[in-house]
Amino acid sequence: MPILRCSKCEATYPTTAPRWRCDCGSPLRLEGCEALNAGRMKDRPPGLRRYTEALGLDDPENAVTLGEGSTPLLGGELEGLPVLFKLDYLCPTGSFKDRGCAVMTSKLREWSVREIVVDSSGNAGASVAAYAAAAGIRANIFIPAEASAVKAAQIALYGANLVRITGTREDTAEAALEAGRRCFYASHNWSPFFVAGLRTVAFEIAEQLRCTPPDWVVAPLGGGGLILGLFEGFTELSRAGLTARLPRLAGVQSEACAPVYRAWRAGLREVPSVKKAETLAEGISIARPVKGREILSAIRASNGVVRCVSDSAIRRMLQALGKKGLFVEPTSAAAPAAVAGMAEEGLLSPGQSIVIVLTGIGLKATEKILQVMAV
Ligand SMILES: *Cc1c(COP(=O)(O)O)cnc(C)c1O
Ligand SMILES: [Zn+2]
Repeated sequence: MPILRCSKCEATYPTTAPRWRCDCGSPLRLEGCEALNAGRMKDRPPGLRRYTEALGLDDPENAVTLGEGSTPLLGGELEGLPVLFKLDYLCPTGSFKDRGCAVMTSKLREWSVREIVVDSSGNAGASVAAYAAAAGIRANIFIPAEASAVKAAQIALYGANLVRITGTREDTAEAALEAGRRCFYASHNWSPFFVAGLRTVAFEIAEQLRCTPPDWVVAPLGGGGLILGLFEGFTELSRAGLTARLPRLAGVQSEACAPVYRAWRAGLREVPSVKKAETLAEGISIARPVKGREILSAIRASNGVVRCVSDSAIRRMLQALGKKGLFVEPTSAAAPAAVAGMAEEGLLSPGQSIVIVLTGIGLKATEKILQVMAV
């Protein structure tokens, strides 16, 4: 039976009643799902339902979907190394967050939640708005006043109630939490079901590589949902006997806001919050990730690393990807921007298989991209 377990005090809760955190205030993790079954998987069409067992839903037949997942794994070259790009920016709302939101809103509907409030710097807001629309759930989305116009346009078009908050990203989270006293607080940064949806990135990569896990998966790191989803997904694959080992995970932050990187460097178990500066990578600009402890322990358990990159490296990589025909938003260029440094350190070499997750589409950030091109 799927259960929710607290990452700190180990308390458990059933998945049958609405809940977004432990009574002790810490984040929850989804455990106890049925193991993936290769035989059953093969008979199902591509998409998240292929991996139903691992998603913790009671009524997978009626799961909310907009056709997310099943994204290409494209071979290419970067800094002289052969790499594979996981094109998750091709999800329905233009970011990988759709995988998480599909499962999170499916669970909200199973719980008969009618109205939610979330906070987001943009992509999660757009994704929650789309999936809430598909699920028939009323969504109040709080975003920082300076979030990109496209993301605000998406949120509005999907019919959500858009609330702009002046101040920092943390002020936005604060305001949403306050509003969460009236309706369900469905923050993707807290939701264990959002992370469960992101396990499917790992499942697809493994299937696309015929069950040989890559040596490395490199991904941008903000709230940590993606890194945790990858870790839980690859862990599940080996538990189910489908793959023999875990890939090493590299989480990449922006120098301007690198709380996990600093904590990792200092050998800490928790992630203290940092003061952040402006960065091109707005999608990973999170000064205090609520799952900091889980992120550190997942990356360590995978024998992975945390790295950070400068805005100028992000800018150069954004343009280099463009010249390969890959149109991503600046946040997504952070992960490939870390590859050169990792190769210099001897972590990456041409004989290895290296997957880089490309998370968000360039159409989301045309103003920023025009600025980058003008420099
Ligand atoms: C949210 C987001 C990230 C960071 O993912 P986390 O799960 O918060 O670590 C990276 N890239 C893009 C485009 C995003 O929207
Ligand atoms: Zn607890």
